[in-house]
Amino acid sequence: MYLTRKLKLGRTDQLDALARRAGDLWSTVATWHWRFVRRQGYWLSKGQTQKMYCKGFNGLHSQSAQAVADSFDDSLQSWRKKRKNGNYEGLRPPYKQKRYFKVQWKSSAIRLQDDGVLRLSNGRGNDPVLIDWPSKTEPKRIEIGWDGDQYELRCQYKVEEDKEPNGSKIAGIDIGEIHLAAVYTEDEAWTVSGRELRSLRRQQNRTKARLDSKIDRKVRGSRRWKRLIHAKNRQLSKIRNQIKDLLHKQSTRLIKTLHERRVGTVVVGDLTGIRERIDYGSKTNQRLHQWVYGEFVRMIEYKARLHGMTVERVGEAYTSQTCPSCGSRHKPHGRDYICSCGFEGHRDIVGAANIRQKYLGQDEPTGSSLRVAGAMASPAGVRYRPHMWCNPLSGSQTPSGAATSKRERAAQAA
Ligand SMILES: [Zn+2]
Repeated sequence: MYLTRKLKLGRTDQLDALARRAGDLWSTVATWHWRFVRRQGYWLSKGQTQKMYCKGFNGLHSQSAQAVADSFDDSLQSWRKKRKNGNYEGLRPPYKQKRYFKVQWKSSAIRLQDDGVLRLSNGRGNDPVLIDWPSKTEPKRIEIGWDGDQYELRCQYKVEEDKEPNGSKIAGIDIGEIHLAAVYTEDEAWTVSGRELRSLRRQQNRTKARLDSKIDRKVRGSRRWKRLIHAKNRQLSKIRNQIKDLLHKQSTRLIKTLHERRVGTVVVGDLTGIRERIDYGSKTNQRLHQWVYGEFVRMIEYKARLHGMTVERVGEAYTSQTCPSCGSRHKPHGRDYICSCGFEGHRDIVGAANIRQKYLGQDEPTGSSLRVAGAMASPAGVRYRPHMWCNPLSGSQTPSGAATSKRERAAQAA
């Protein structure tokens, strides 16, 4: 499985110069491409473009220069494909000039030195980019681009998946707002608190509302307006990163626990039901919500696969309303699910148990119901510590390696 690692690099003159050169080359490629089309009615191929404009281009490694032509060709092809499919919405071919463009390195320009410094070559006569590399494996491809605030390095690296899971238990997971996740296996049940996430989400909403109302009072397009827009994007992206970091930590911990408890199959409800359970407020809120929970499920899925587990999705319909003991349906009130048949259980754990049950194809619970009731009497809450340390090199914990060293890096850059 390939994972993406990101590393924040701050801003340096060298990276500025490289991005500038890549932008120059993009502009040359785009200009001449359309000039040929206009004057000769001829579409240059990617190979021709590389031969004519990338070969011998000064300031970039020869393969980095070729990669610019690759990117131009990619966006040209995707434009063609969309046009073919009759999708004209927002359809523009790549014709714009660019001041800056991302710089890409392929394997022959990348070397991990013995002292743990990654050396990115920029062709003869130019200084290489040197980066303290937080891992022992040499990446095959790297790109450095602007993330809106600073330069960001992205690379894909290969992680070996476990061939076999640790056991064969089946766990149902219910994703929700009060508890980010409620888990039910055949003999255990526990929850992952969603409190940290809720407080970050509140902070996100407050920040957005506060800055939006300020922005509304400024003249659109004015200097102050622009400055506020910039401030808003910056503050929101910071909170967004914090949320992402939190989701990474919570999902890593959850999957580790499942692995330790010998779970082989993870059953997740699809998130259609989450809409009913969460009060959205506005449209934008809804988009953010979908992003947060979608992201969490995506993380659970790939981290489970890394541990050799199988991931299944089932429809969430009625999973929060069905009594696991007698099978009758009614909406729960409050945090506990109480049924007229005498069953009482934690509401989110009931959801997780029903999701698991649904996967097993036992929509009508029978003899197993007693066990369900017994295990559900006291779900153990798994407490989450927000400043829990995660090993940045442990594959599954992708971006936190960058986060921990960010401050150091900033100090070095200054
Ligand atoms: Zn019942």
